[in-house]
Amino acid sequence: MSVAVTQHKNYIGGEWVDSAGGETMEVLNPATGETIAEVPASNAEDADRAVQAARAALPEWLETTPGERAELLLKLAEMIEENADELAEIESRNVGKPLPVSRDEFPVMADNIRFFAGAARILEGRAAGEYMRGYTSMIRREPIGIVAGIAPWNYPLMMAVWKFAPALAAGNVQVLKPSEQTPLSLLRLMELAEGVLPAGVLNVITGDGVPAGEALVKHPEVRLVSLTGDVETGKAIARTAAENLKRVHLELGGKAPVLVFDDADPAAVAESIKIAGYWNSGQDCTAASRVVAGSGIYDKLLEELVPAVESIQVGDPAEGDEIEMGPVISKSQQERVFGFLERAKGANVLTGGGSNGERGFFVTPTVVAGVEQTDEIVQREVFGPVVTVQRFADDDQAIAWANDVNYGLAASVFTRDIGRALNAARKLQFGTVWINDHIPLVSEMPHGGYKQSGYGKDLSVYSLEDYTQVKHVMAKID
Ligand code: NAD
Repeated sequence: MSVAVTQHKNYIGGEWVDSAGGETMEVLNPATGETIAEVPASNAEDADRAVQAARAALPEWLETTPGERAELLLKLAEMIEENADELAEIESRNVGKPLPVSRDEFPVMADNIRFFAGAARILEGRAAGEYMRGYTSMIRREPIGIVAGIAPWNYPLMMAVWKFAPALAAGNVQVLKPSEQTPLSLLRLMELAEGVLPAGVLNVITGDGVPAGEALVKHPEVRLVSLTGDVETGKAIARTAAENLKRVHLELGGKAPVLVFDDADPAAVAESIKIAGYWNSGQDCTAASRVVAGSGIYDKLLEELVPAVESIQVGDPAEGDEIEMGPVISKSQQERVFGFLERAKGANVLTGGGSNGERGFFVTPTVVAGVEQTDEIVQREVFGPVVTVQRFADDDQAIAWANDVNYGLAASVFTRDIGRALNAARKLQFGTVWINDHIPLVSEMPHGGYKQSGYGKDLSVYSLEDYTQVKHVMAKID
């Protein structure tokens, strides 16, 4: 049976338009490898059209009050909730997420938008006052202007929300480019939301990183580029953006350590890793990918972890809600993951490492032991359902190994000893540290990296502030 291939357009200035060159590209279902949609393959001309539409919308948008912008964002949140089933189904088909996993994301997205809608109304500057005799000074927190958002494929709509909600709430206009592999949920949201936002305030162009994304980064009218993506993409964007000194906001990769001290409960830790290491097929920048366990708990932890991981139901999400893990996003991602396993010569693959049949881009949930700290599989982000396990000798070695990677996005510590946990939390060089859990996020708290995991925060008022600039107004008063 052949699959219906849907046709899509860019959303620019409130209109649906083909790419300037009329070129299209295919979008696949990674669980089957079949083409499910065709979207515009945008180029620099499309990027410019979208930026011009945003530019035209900016003056009027700058006149809106935070309360008015909040009203519109709240409508978008409502729309996401009302259409969650349809959007979850699109996300599931395009990313290969099991439907229950996909459905879980929609209340979170609605909450993220509502948070930014509210927070925009209470943005703070420092006190106004007389810091020089005869003058009053005040701080204005102002939008930056035209913001380009460039999103990855692992949480397509959620990452788009994390970009447009703070940007619009703060009074900016935006051009968003979803991943070329997963543009469908955002395009559908724009259809559903037609008429909610004034034309040009939020524009979407689809296409490859180069030329479409790069053209946005090079565009002289774009004043901030916000990327969630790979470290190398972040570096390329920062280099290009430096040409005209535009701001960059970078949420990049991770290699999250899970420190397990001897006094932790091995069954509870295994259950946490089963979720946090394999959620979304391990394609999560905060995935629990590196377990660093004490000598006293190492064996007991593996006894719990391996069967827990083997119990994960893998398959095409279309098979039903009992499927817990789908494929990885693409053939090349699947090959990339297998490449890491092949090159990990001295390692001991305790379970997984297979492809789950002929169809789709699957990697079975994998646990790898017998690895060294310097091994590639310990040092680099795999971005697949692969968890390594190392045995540490003492607390100092545990912290040193945890910190000994270029990434710094998230880490976790499992212990019943609060002093030990807080000491580890202090010393871990990561933007988020969880204690006795791994992976939950909340709208009110920041998410973002240290080191090569990037700079700039998502979620929280810190994110909202990243989408503003500070102006000092000084008035002579006598
Ligand atoms: P990617 O870097 O390949 O692509 C991300 C986006 O950047 C895509 O839209 C792509 O088209 C675009 N792009 C690529 N090259 C570009 C260029 N030169 N100029 C402009 N745009 C360009 O990343 P991906 O493979 O889609 O996503 C996976 C990566 O994202 C992982 O490394 C993961 O850790 C990271 N990620 C980070 C977070 C976080 O919050 N820190 C969240 C999700 C994913």
